[in-house]
Amino acid sequence: MPCAICGREARGFGFCHQLRWDRNPHHRFCSMSCLTVGSAIARRNFGMIDKTDMEIRAIREARRDLAEALTEMGLMEAFFDRSAEDIDRLIEACVDGFQGAMQRQSDAGQIPF
Ligand SMILES: [Zn+2]
Repeated sequence: MPCAICGREARGFGFCHQLRWDRNPHHRFCSMSCLTVGSAIARRNFGMIDKTDMEIRAIREARRDLAEALTEMGLMEAFFDRSAEDIDRLIEACVDGFQGAMQRQSDAGQIPF
C-alpha cells in the first residue's frame, strides 16, 4: 500500500476526512510529514487526494519560478533550447531530493510537530 503523498510504502499513518468512513476515502501515509500534508489537502478537497494531477500542476507551475531564477542568474541561455521534459526533469530532481531529505529527517524524529 503506497503513501498517498509520496508513493513510498505506507506505515500506519491514516486519515479519513471527518472520520466518515462510509462517505470519504481513507488515505494511508508513510510518515507524520506526509500525513500532515495529506490531511490538509483532503480537508480542503472533500476528502480526496489526487496526487498525480496535483504533481503535474505543481511541476508546471514550478517551471516559471525556475525560469525566473535562471534569468536572474544569467543562465537562461543554456536552457533556452531545452524541452519542457528536460526542465521538468530538473524540477523533479530537486523535489525528489528535497522530499527524500524531509522524509529521512522526519523518520529519524528530527522534526517536531
Ligand atoms: Zn509519504
